[in-house]
Amino acid sequence: MRALTASEIIHLWETAYRFHPIDQALSILQQAMPGHTREQLAAMSLGQRDDLLLALRQLTFGDTLPGKDTCPHCNERVEFALSCTALSVDTPEPKRRQLVTDGFDVTVRPLTSFDLGAAANASTVDEARSLLLERCVDEVLYQGVPTPVQALPQSIQNSIAETASATDPQAEKVLELSCPACKNEWQSLLDIGHVLWMEICAWAQRLLLEVHQLATAYGWTEDEILKLGPVRRATYLQMVAP
Ligand SMILES: [Zn+2]
Repeated sequence: MRALTASEIIHLWETAYRFHPIDQALSILQQAMPGHTREQLAAMSLGQRDDLLLALRQLTFGDTLPGKDTCPHCNERVEFALSCTALSVDTPEPKRRQLVTDGFDVTVRPLTSFDLGAAANASTVDEARSLLLERCVDEVLYQGVPTPVQALPQSIQNSIAETASATDPQAEKVLELSCPACKNEWQSLLDIGHVLWMEICAWAQRLLLEVHQLATAYGWTEDEILKLGPVRRATYLQMVAP
């Protein structure tokens, strides 16, 4: 993996802005990892995918990831800084797990972008949930006999969902937040795909403004300006509009 270039940031913003967030995350990775097919990236567990997105974010925009949230108790705006490296804990590769309980023997696998894509087409939240439940299960046996997931008791369905999460703990980046005003503490989930996409949008628009300013001043082409390193580009910009 390598950092995204200025041209690639603009290309991503231009081509993927209409995509579903799942496809935006895959497009970002595919741009930085041309040796991988889209299918290979979509078949990775969500934790693996998010760790790659964090690594790419660190390479492209730096390690410190600014965040903000609103205190659910007093509505105070809370700002904080995260470390991409610290969030991307080096955990073992996600693997299938056996859930053996009450006569049931279930093989559970971690969820992937393919699964999220399928659930995104569901018309209700309940339908999406049961679709994910079906997809994360390879085989269900009750007293040795294959059994459909829908026929399982609710308690077993809950255990399957918990087991699926446990196969891929990196899929949920839980942030422990606290409010400086009222000392309230709460948890929030980091969606690194969404955060990185928003950063790419902001950077693309900023880069185009820089192209506009330098092209107007010097008559250089977009390609010539984007090939300048960020330090050189910033120095020319200071000369144009100090
Ligand atoms: Zn508060």
